Amino acid sequence: MFQFDHSLARELEGFYVPVQAAKPRAPRMVAWNAPLAEALGLPQADETQWTAWLSGAEAVPGSQPIALTYAGHQFGHFNPQLGDGRALLLGEVIAPGGARFDLQFKGSGPTPFSRQGDGKSALGPALREYLMSEAMAALGVPTTRSLAVVATGEGVWRDTPHPAGVLTRVAASHLRVGSFEWAAAHKGRQAVERLADYALARHFPDRMEARNRPLALLEAVTEAQAALVAQWLSIGFVHGVMNTDNVTISGETIDYGPCAFLDAYAHDQVFSSIDRGGRYAYGNQPVVCRWNLYQLASALIEAIVAVDEGDNEAARQLLDGFGARFEGHWIAAMRPKLGLTRTDDGDVALAQALFQALEGQGADFTRLFRALAASLSEGYGAVAAEVTDPAALQHWWDQWQARLASEPADPAERAARMDAVNPLYIARNHLTDAALAEAEAGNMAPFEELLALVRQPFTRRAGMERYEHGAPDGAPAHVTYCGT
Ligand code: AMP
Ligand code: MG
Repeated sequence: MFQFDHSLARELEGFYVPVQAAKPRAPRMVAWNAPLAEALGLPQADETQWTAWLSGAEAVPGSQPIALTYAGHQFGHFNPQLGDGRALLLGEVIAPGGARFDLQFKGSGPTPFSRQGDGKSALGPALREYLMSEAMAALGVPTTRSLAVVATGEGVWRDTPHPAGVLTRVAASHLRVGSFEWAAAHKGRQAVERLADYALARHFPDRMEARNRPLALLEAVTEAQAALVAQWLSIGFVHGVMNTDNVTISGETIDYGPCAFLDAYAHDQVFSSIDRGGRYAYGNQPVVCRWNLYQLASALIEAIVAVDEGDNEAARQLLDGFGARFEGHWIAAMRPKLGLTRTDDGDVALAQALFQALEGQGADFTRLFRALAASLSEGYGAVAAEVTDPAALQHWWDQWQARLASEPADPAERAARMDAVNPLYIARNHLTDAALAEAEAGNMAPFEELLALVRQPFTRRAGMERYEHGAPDGAPAHVTYCGT
C-alpha cells in the first residue's frame, strides 16, 4: 500500500500537533495527477477510493496527520506564531527511487493554528496552485507538486461564495525559514540545532560531515534559494508573497497564492492586491531573497557561533556574497535563453541591457524570447513586431548579433536551442482566470486544455495559437489575491 514514513513526527517532537482532516460533504475528484502518482509509487486504486482518501472522507492508510508550527516575517513584520492553519501533513512517502516526499492536504479544515481563518480553501485557488506548480515543474523550476484537487461539495465565503476544495501537495519537505524562526523565538538554541540537523540530513545529506552544521545549512539554503530566484526571473515568474514562512529550506517554490507570470515586461511589476509597496515586485525578488536569508541567519546564529565563535564572520561573508552568487545563477539561466553557450565577461551587461531596453516597451516577456530566436532567420523585424518603439531596441539587438558572431552557429540550430528553453505556453493570466472561472462553474475543459499545454511548454501545437498571445489589448492590469 502506501510506503509512509514519519521521520519529522519522530524526530521533531514539539514542532507539530496531531489534527484530523474535516469530513467533506459530497467529495468529487476534480483534478488527478496520474503520472505523479505513478512516479511516487502510490497504490493502484479507483477514482472513488482516491476521492475518499484525498478529501478527508477516509483516513489515508498509514498516514499520521499533523499541523506544523512555524513563525514568519510577513511583509517585513515578524509574526511569532503562524503554522499550518489550513494544511495537514499526512506523512512522507518514499518513492521507488528512494526519495522522500511530504504528502500534505491544503484546505482540509481548521487546526490550532487557524487563527481567524476557516481552514478551508476555495476550489479555484486550489486548482490555480495545481496548474501553476505543474507549469513550473515542466519549466524545470524546483517546485512543490500537486497530486489532486477534490471538491468537497461545500462552500466557502471569500467576499462571495465559492465551492471548496482540498489540494494534495507533494513537497521535498514543508520546512521553511519560518520553522527556524519559530524554534529560535520559542525554544532556543538546542531546538534550532535539532531542526538544523534534521533539515541537513533530509535535504543536504552530503553536508552532514561539515565542521559547522548550522553554518553548512545556511550555506546550502543560500545556494538553493539564489538558484531558485534566478530561475524565477528567467521565466518572468512573480511569486507575490515571499514571506519567510513561504521560503522553503529545500529550495522548492512553494505557496502559489498571488503569484503570476509577467505579461508585458516591467521590472517593478506587482500582481498581488495586498503588495501596495511593491516589496515582492518582479525585479525586487533577489533583494527580498537575501533579506529572507538574513532572517534564517538570525535564527541560526546562536547555533553557528556555539560551534565556533569565528563563524559569525563566515556567516556574514556568506550573506555579503549573495549578490555575486545570485548573479552567477542568473546569467547561467540567461545565456541559453539568448542562444549563448560560451561565457564572456560582457554577458551580464548584455543581458541587463536587454531588460533596460525593454522597460516601457510593452513587450510580452514570454513571446519576446521566442521572437529573438525567430529573428535569427527573419531578421530584426521579428523582434520589432513585439515592441512599441522598435528603434530603441535595435541597438541592443545589434550588440547581441555581435556577441553571437563570437560563437558561430547555424541560425536554425541556435534557434532550436533557444526554443528548447524559452517557453511558448505559460499559465497566462487572462487564460488562467478564464479557465478557473469555468472550473468553479463546473466546466473543466478549458483548465484541462491549458494544463496540457503548460505541461509541454516548448512544443508548438496546431490550433492553439490563442495560447501564444499576450494579454488582450486594453485589458485591465492583472490582480491576484492571497485568499486560498
Ligand atoms: P499564506 O499567506 O498562504 O502563506 O498563509 C499565511 C498563514 O495564514 C499560514 O499560517 C496559513 O496556514 C494561514 N491561513 C491562510 N488562509 C487560511 C485559512 N483559510 N484558514 C486558516 N488559516 C489560513
Ligand atoms: Mg504559506
